[in-house]
Amino acid sequence: MLESRNDSFGDLLCDVKAEQKEYGTRYRRIKDFAYPDDVQMSVSFEIHFDAQLNRRVKNEPLMQMTRGEFGGRVGVWRLIETFAKHGVRATLFTPGRICELYPESLKEAVNKGFEIGNHMWEHRMPSEPDLERDHLKKATKAVEKLCGQRPVGSRSKHKIATLKHEGYLYASREDHPIDDFPYYTYDSEGNCILNFPFHYAGDDAIYYYLGFYGCDLAGNRPSDPSRVYDIWMNIFRQSYRMGRHMSICLHNFVSGHALRVAMLDKFLTELRKMPRVWFPTYREMAEYCLDRFPPH
Ligand SMILES: [Zn+2]
Repeated sequence: MLESRNDSFGDLLCDVKAEQKEYGTRYRRIKDFAYPDDVQMSVSFEIHFDAQLNRRVKNEPLMQMTRGEFGGRVGVWRLIETFAKHGVRATLFTPGRICELYPESLKEAVNKGFEIGNHMWEHRMPSEPDLERDHLKKATKAVEKLCGQRPVGSRSKHKIATLKHEGYLYASREDHPIDDFPYYTYDSEGNCILNFPFHYAGDDAIYYYLGFYGCDLAGNRPSDPSRVYDIWMNIFRQSYRMGRHMSICLHNFVSGHALRVAMLDKFLTELRKMPRVWFPTYREMAEYCLDRFPPH
C-alpha cells in the first residue's frame, strides 16, 4: 500500500518536474530590465473594442448584445476623448470586423495617436490551423487598410508562429503572467515573441461586469468606481515605489459609462501629476524591450 502511494507520489513529482522544466524553456523573464535614467515607472493602457462581437460569439441574450453596441457607439468615443484630454495614448486592440462596424471611431483613435492592435477577426480563435492563419491575415489587412498602420501586437491566443509570419512584434496573452514587465514566450519549435502580461487586478471587467466569465457568486456585483479608483491608485503607488510597469485594461462597453469615465479622468489626473512616469503604447514598450533586451 505504502509502496503504491510512494509510486504515485513519485509519478506526480516527475510530472511537476517535467512541467517546471518546460515552463523554464517556454517563458523567459527580462531579468536585467532597466528604464532610461529619467523614468521611474511606466503605465500602459489597453482598450478592448469587443463591442457586440464577443457577446455574439458567446451567444448571449439580446440585451447583452446591445450593451456591446453601447461600447461601439458611445463608450469608445468617451474613452478616446478622456485619454486625449490627458495627452495619454492608449493601445486599442480591435477585432478586424470592427473596421466594418465602427470605422469612424478607429480613425479617430489613430488621429489622436493611439496604437491599433489586433484582437482577432471576430473575437474568437478557430481551432483549425488554416482558419486561424486566415483570420489573422484578414484582421491585419482590415486594420491596415482602414487605419493606415499595420498592427504589430495582438491581444489573442494566436499561435506564436502565425504571429511571427504576419510580422507581429509582440503578443499580449492572459496565460502565465510570470512578471509585470514584458517577457519572452517560446513555442515548442523555438519561435519566440515578446509577451505582455495580463493581470486581472488591472482589468475593468472584473470589477464592473456582472456575471464575469459566467460567475454567479454573490460577490460578483458591479463595484463602485471609487473602490476601483482606490485599488488602481494603490497598485500605481506601489509600482512607482518599486519602479515597475503597470498596465490597465479597459473595455469600451464596460468603462465607457458615465461614472466610470469620470473615475478614469480622475485617475489620469493623479497619474499625470507624478514625475518620471512614462506612458508608452504597447508598441513603444515592445520596441524598447526588443531593442535593449533582445531574446537570447
Ligand atoms: Zn475582448
